[in-house]
Amino acid sequence: MAIMLGSSVVILTGAGISAESGVSTFRDNDGLWENHRIEDVATPSAWENNPDLVWKFYQTRRRQLLQVEPNPAHFALAKLEQGVDDFTLITQNVDDLHERGGSSNVIHMHGRLRTLRCEVSKKFEERMEEEDLQNHFLFCTCCAEPNRVRPDIVWFGEMPMHLEEIYEAVGRCDYFIVIGSSGHVYPAAGLVNVANSCGAKTILVNFENPANSFAFDEIHLGKAGEILPDLVNSWLD
Ligand code: NAD
Repeated sequence: MAIMLGSSVVILTGAGISAESGVSTFRDNDGLWENHRIEDVATPSAWENNPDLVWKFYQTRRRQLLQVEPNPAHFALAKLEQGVDDFTLITQNVDDLHERGGSSNVIHMHGRLRTLRCEVSKKFEERMEEEDLQNHFLFCTCCAEPNRVRPDIVWFGEMPMHLEEIYEAVGRCDYFIVIGSSGHVYPAAGLVNVANSCGAKTILVNFENPANSFAFDEIHLGKAGEILPDLVNSWLD
């Protein structure tokens, strides 16, 4: 299948695309994320009840960014972007591997590890200096009286970011392509239904059949880093 020049392509990526870079997914590990239950590290109540654990968990994830590199799947998406007129990359990932793989304008619907958010003003700022990556709490630079910052992450039970922009892009696309996502986390997992109802062709690239595999027109099972580069070449042929 060749993706026509002039068509509109929306990509949605999940943790699976970063797996070959050495970043753990969580569905692949019995629902645990780096040995933690999601409820203990990725919810507003976890932050309220045990901020120390949550902070250390995310500081570890933030430090890990300095040790991992984009893989061929990230590079393949940067190439696809160059070959398509109207291209939108939405990611559920909080890492920065798409940007480092050459993609621009990445929509991070679940937030980003590189930035931290003031608990009072809600403003975010990039904080990746060495002194920002230690285990002690950090404070904002936006308020006259500095306030504690939290991870700039959308936790379970919170509203994903950029939803208006996301629904607008999915609603007008010709191709909707999901890569490395288990199809369990909503509303991201429901975007394929929006794409289908708007007449887009829907394609999935995943290691295994995910929960919502029935919703796709075309499925490619395998490791994204191994199969996506050739798929992208065939789409751009
Ligand atoms: P998930 O962990 O629920 O599912 C990952 C999916 O990727 C699985 O279906 C698995 O079979 C597939 N997969 C594993 N290795 C793969 C590979 N090499 N190639 C292709 N597919 C592969 O991930 P999700 O659906 O993104 O939902 C998880 C949530 O966890 C998201 O909200 C995300 O923000 C967060 N998270 C992010 C990261 C990250 O930023 N890298 C890592 C872990 C979790």
